[in-house]
Amino acid sequence: MTSRQKVKQLRKFKIFVLSAPSGTGKTTIVNALKSKFQDLAVSVSYTTRPPRADEKNSEDYHFISEYEFRKKIKQGFFAEWAKVYGNYYGTSKSFIEENLKKNKMVLLTIDTQGALQIKKKYPEAVLIGILPPSIKEQENRLKKRGETPENIKKRLRESSSERKILMQKYDYRLINRDLEKTIHRLVSIIKKNENH
Ligand code: 5GP
Repeated sequence: MTSRQKVKQLRKFKIFVLSAPSGTGKTTIVNALKSKFQDLAVSVSYTTRPPRADEKNSEDYHFISEYEFRKKIKQGFFAEWAKVYGNYYGTSKSFIEENLKKNKMVLLTIDTQGALQIKKKYPEAVLIGILPPSIKEQENRLKKRGETPENIKKRLRESSSERKILMQKYDYRLINRDLEKTIHRLVSIIKKNENH
């Protein structure tokens, strides 16, 4: 392989980081992307948050105790980790590295703190933020999901500081007025970046 081919191949290695506030239809978005791109490896995060009724271990998250999480931090297991809404969340470093080695694209759905850590470690990562059309709309979505008023307040407060980071540091920002259109835009962003 010539050195030019090598560079071209290296540039194909791509990490896409998706940050979306709660209640944006994240699961639907990720499932749609999975079905459109066969060589997209979707990371399953580790968390200390207890599972919700419909969540499955190792599929939605790897649910672990705080003790195990701290042990993994010490072992350098995570490519990034953060405390979000009082719980710990982290991404496996070996998941990213192994998939990049296999020439796959990697998709992480993580918060802004984690996204900035990833960008620092992997500058070629593409950061994409999904914003609700309005704060009122986001509040309605959280209410529909059955979150408590206290939780809604907390999440809205935190997403206002997340919004600032999205505006300043992200490569792309999408306003999610219509889920189908948002998915369509995401597909074209990935296609545009995957071969560069
Ligand atoms: P939820 O508990 O509602 O699934 O997620 C809460 C927040 O944690 C969301 O913003 C989600 O993107 C974020 N999150 C999920 N996994 C990770 C991760 O591995 N690292 C970081 N930094 N944030 C994560």
